[in-house]
Amino acid sequence: MSDQMPNRTEAHAAQFAIEMQDVNKWYGTFHVLRDINLNVARGERIVIAGPSGSGKSTLIRCINRLEEHQRGRIVVDGVELTSDLKNIDKVRSEVGMVFQHFNLFPHLTVLENCTLAPIWVRKVPKRQAEETAMHFLEKVRIPEQANKYPGQLSGGQQQRVAIARSLCMQPRIMLFDEPTSALDPEMIKEVLDTMIELAEDGMTMLCVTHEMGFAQAVAHRVIFMDQGQIVEENEPNAFFNNPQNERTKLFLSQIL
Ligand code: ADP
Ligand code: MG
Repeated sequence: MSDQMPNRTEAHAAQFAIEMQDVNKWYGTFHVLRDINLNVARGERIVIAGPSGSGKSTLIRCINRLEEHQRGRIVVDGVELTSDLKNIDKVRSEVGMVFQHFNLFPHLTVLENCTLAPIWVRKVPKRQAEETAMHFLEKVRIPEQANKYPGQLSGGQQQRVAIARSLCMQPRIMLFDEPTSALDPEMIKEVLDTMIELAEDGMTMLCVTHEMGFAQAVAHRVIFMDQGQIVEENEPNAFFNNPQNERTKLFLSQIL
């Protein structure tokens, strides 16, 4: 057995989808991320919680380099994020992101929203891109909306289109930044159900969300951030039932 063990670097590359080591970031003089250490295994699902302004969005935006970190290392699927644009393109093509506001193109149909990047970035033939798009629109249960424009859809439907659009790029990692916080309560469940199905398919997921039922149901780990630091992390049951940090306790008492 031991002679088949890959060397340390290979084992590392194979094991983690995302590695963050001593990551620090500043906005001007404001120290927004402080010594972040986080390894995400393949297929792992992490929920990131914490008060507004604690750096949750900045953290996940650093993973696909929508934001740049200044110190430390971020390695995504074995590729280190540096200012090398080739690396950034490779990482972006493997990491899908869904935002609070769905960011669909209003002048394109649902189907066109889903095929735009595959056709223009991935050079997938149009017909094949449409087939893939329909597959994922079925997965998020809105194939019948394919020829409508985003403005004709409910918020929950638009967010499911945004998820389908990300999936059309066949990402290996999905990042969610408060995907349900702009939705009316009756639409939250349909979006969470879509995310739960994605989780069941084994997708590596990092979700910033305050939906603690979702965290309990799908997260392997909950990470709590405050003032740019990870101050506590644990599996969901222990996190919710036996929080250790005073700031975590205060936060949970406010949202539960
Ligand atoms: P969260 O998602 O947890 O609410 P953010 O990562 O959005 O936190 O923001 C963390 C802190 O960084 C906040 O104080 C916010 O005002 C500040 N911030 C966010 N984006 C910028 C920016 N582009 N320039 C300067 N400050 C920013
Ligand atoms: Mg945020």
